[in-house]
Amino acid sequence: MAIREIKKYPDPVLRKKTAPVGEIDKDLCRLIDDMVETMHAAPGVGLAANQVGVPLQVAVIDIGSHEEEGTKHPLVVLINPEIVSQEGAVVAEEGCLSVPDFTEKVKRAARVKVRAKDRAGKAFELDAEGLMAKALQHEIDHLNGVLFIDRLSPIKKSIFRRKLKKALAETA
Ligand SMILES: [Zn+2]
Repeated sequence: MAIREIKKYPDPVLRKKTAPVGEIDKDLCRLIDDMVETMHAAPGVGLAANQVGVPLQVAVIDIGSHEEEGTKHPLVVLINPEIVSQEGAVVAEEGCLSVPDFTEKVKRAARVKVRAKDRAGKAFELDAEGLMAKALQHEIDHLNGVLFIDRLSPIKKSIFRRKLKKALAETA
């Protein structure tokens, strides 16, 4: 396993819609292992393949260490995931490993049902709410080339752009 470099906004790979996975081969399993290691090392609760520069429909989520809901969730590997239904609305704070040092409240569905394949190629469905529902929507957005900053109001977007400009000026 290896830790891969996490691509940062505005890297164009984050904007590319990822392609569905065909065969689950050794290379794909290595990618999944690397993504899990990279996510844990960051540390983060989710990672999409295009965040490490691979434009494929693969994401990993591990919210197990977050105890805010009093439940433990196992590590989830999602291949070719899609949201099949969603309901309700909730506003919650979000951040992203590809958009460092910036968090903001984002409105999303409160509950989602996701259909995907696991690393063995077996199809499964996942009903989720709370942090898990938020993570699923965030990661599936990534696979469609969408970042959480795209879901902010125009005012919050301009705040983000100002902060980004300032951060770039400081590192220049
Ligand atoms: Zn993210």
